[in-house]
Amino acid sequence: MKKSTFAIFLIMLISLAACTPSESSKTDIKIVASTTLVGDVVSQIGGDHIQLTVLFPVGADPHTFEPRPQDVAAISEARVIFLNGLELEHSLESILDSNATGSIVEVSEGVEVLPFKGNLHEGETESDHAVGDPHTWMDPNLVMIWVNNIETALSELDPDNATDYAANAQTYLAELTDLDAWIQTEVDKIPVEARKLVTDHENLGYFIHRYNFTLVGLVVDSLSTGASPSAQDLSALEDAIKEQNVKAIFIGATVNPNLTEQVVKDTGTKLITINTESLGEKGSDTATYIDFMKKLVTAVVDGLQ
Ligand SMILES: [Zn+2]
Repeated sequence: MKKSTFAIFLIMLISLAACTPSESSKTDIKIVASTTLVGDVVSQIGGDHIQLTVLFPVGADPHTFEPRPQDVAAISEARVIFLNGLELEHSLESILDSNATGSIVEVSEGVEVLPFKGNLHEGETESDHAVGDPHTWMDPNLVMIWVNNIETALSELDPDNATDYAANAQTYLAELTDLDAWIQTEVDKIPVEARKLVTDHENLGYFIHRYNFTLVGLVVDSLSTGASPSAQDLSALEDAIKEQNVKAIFIGATVNPNLTEQVVKDTGTKLITINTESLGEKGSDTATYIDFMKKLVTAVVDGLQ
């Protein structure tokens, strides 16, 4: 290498080193997300500019999760706390009220909420169901609303990086558009008259609505996993499964399968376990929202064929 060439090479190396964002990736913008699903979408938009803590552990049931001491610390330090909303995180209400200092953003804000279709049970009032179905992630088009809410909140908090948040949002919105098209293609493998679902609780409402399925029944006739069905509820469900020749019952991985196993035994249908409320561990095939939906849709399509 000639001396002059070497000098140019050195200058290039030095300028490359100066461009490396070694310090800027160490951010102090502390952000909290409640569920693993909300956390994944927030991280897609926030990237390296945010320091994200996800409260609910992988595999936790968001309907019944009890906050821990470290969650209180994370909540009190967060500049923004992203919740799914629609009372999915009602277990966090009191610690949010007493400890949150940052803004609280419900990512589902602006979604056209589906009403709960089930019956009222002992101890429940109309107002318990008035909020509607919180499982908005079951339709990627609604997660696009999440993306816009997250981008707006992060850009207001950190305007210096707003162009990055906008670019990340655009990239991810395109991936969600592709996901929606992929789901439609997969679902089209099942004739509309065979698109009959039984689930453990009312968690696939938005999926059912978007992709033209029918909800035949629920093992637990509730928006939450916390309720328990009566003997009459279960025998009515078993009758419906037999009459409509339902091929499978889909149960969330965070749910106790005992009741569903009884229904499967009585009706001769199949039990298929899917992740519905939480992503899987890092590195697993359900570690991101998009992979989670692909796995869920594949299970539904295979189960009903
Ligand atoms: Zn649920």
